[in-house]
Amino acid sequence: RERLGVASTHNRPPLTVLAGPTAVGKGTVAAYIREHFPGVKLSVSVTTRAPRPGEVEGQHYFFVDDERFDRMLATDELLEWATVHNSHRYGTPRGPVLEAAANGEPMLLEIDLQGARQVRASMPEARLVFLTPPSWEELVNRLVGRGTEGEEERSRRLETAKVELASAEEFDEIIINDEVPRAAHRLVELMRG
Ligand code: 5GP
Repeated sequence: RERLGVASTHNRPPLTVLAGPTAVGKGTVAAYIREHFPGVKLSVSVTTRAPRPGEVEGQHYFFVDDERFDRMLATDELLEWATVHNSHRYGTPRGPVLEAAANGEPMLLEIDLQGARQVRASMPEARLVFLTPPSWEELVNRLVGRGTEGEEERSRRLETAKVELASAEEFDEIIINDEVPRAAHRLVELMRG
């Protein structure tokens, strides 16, 4: 609380969810916050995908195999989970979220829309923030520009993004990701109340 400068009388919901369409730059905004706002607690997800170069176990993700993920589901250790882009499974460990909530420490979850809906259902007091691109053209440019997907995967993700953009209205707040530092600052300001 102190580190975030939240007045003790302030009654903000401690959990903030950042979601948005594919390629909008949620991960980049979260990475910026991780680097520049060490006082903001970021939930570390579990995932069945392999680590990318530079990703650190326990910092970016907990990397687990399918068997371990299944076990976590069976023991109800995940607050929410989803299969993202028809490939790997991702989930939010419940323990740290409950702990942060109990201590009144604001925490940020950067997850996909399916996950955001599950959090809304199980923790209605959570604040849901939708990150949106400045324009549709910009979203297309970013997806093409990062060059991590082939042609077919790209058009599939753009179709998904179109549907996803329409879900902005389910959210409490909308932040336009025009520039990453600016979007990150707006998000932290929201969390500070
Ligand atoms: P990436 O593999 O690029 O790190 O993440 C792919 C997608 O998975 C992103 O849209 C990210 O928001 C989502 N994601 C990461 N962690 C979680 C999680 O714990 N739950 C859900 N539902 N989605 C997640």
